[in-house]
Amino acid sequence: MNTLEKQKIVVASHNAGKLREFADLMAPFGIEAKSAKDYGLPEPEETGTTFEENAYIKAHAAALATGLPALSDDSGLCVDALDGAPGVYTADWATQADGSRDFMLAMEKTEKLLRERGATDPSQRTGRFVAVICLCQPDGSAEYFRGEAKGRLVWPPRGDKGFGYDPVFQPEGFDVTFGEMPAEEKHGWKPGQEEALSHRARAFQKFARAKLGVS
Ligand code: IMP
Repeated sequence: MNTLEKQKIVVASHNAGKLREFADLMAPFGIEAKSAKDYGLPEPEETGTTFEENAYIKAHAAALATGLPALSDDSGLCVDALDGAPGVYTADWATQADGSRDFMLAMEKTEKLLRERGATDPSQRTGRFVAVICLCQPDGSAEYFRGEAKGRLVWPPRGDKGFGYDPVFQPEGFDVTFGEMPAEEKHGWKPGQEEALSHRARAFQKFARAKLGVS
């Protein structure tokens, strides 16, 4: 049963890169999706310690403020040699004193820590992107959909596509980074396609199968 089709939904994010990917992912489903930014909503503080908690904070705030179902994504990069860091703090590693974000600095910090741990061989530089999508109703009830993409960290950064840490993440089975891939290849997913590639597309695929009745 397609419970969301033709409904309005708010995408609880201000992140331009994520919003672009969500717009692409939702395009085939006829869902009218506006962002938290379009509604002029403030960005809630992400005080959780798990992707699920932070995804709920964002989706719940947007659902309460608009009276509409809200979809959020909390995501991050978990590097094995750094014990899963930066994890839920992935965006924070890019945040500077004036509040702006610089992802080149964040990628350099990750690289510096990897070198400090002696992780120079590709086999020691594994990690994964995680995305947890939360669908929250105005009454506070929520459902979660998690997607992961395994890969390894490369240096120097390569490619100018995508956003965030994309230029240093080379997904398993590829010799290009997310930053070098066309958008369609990184996060594209259409009904009938067996497995999406990116963490966000994989989470969306689970959401679409559960809530939009697609295969
Ligand atoms: P948050 O979900 O708002 O806490 O932010 C997650 C952060 O993880 C983003 O600001 C990006 O830096 C990073 N991130 C999440 N997904 C991706 C992706 O698909 N590519 C590159 N970086 C990502």
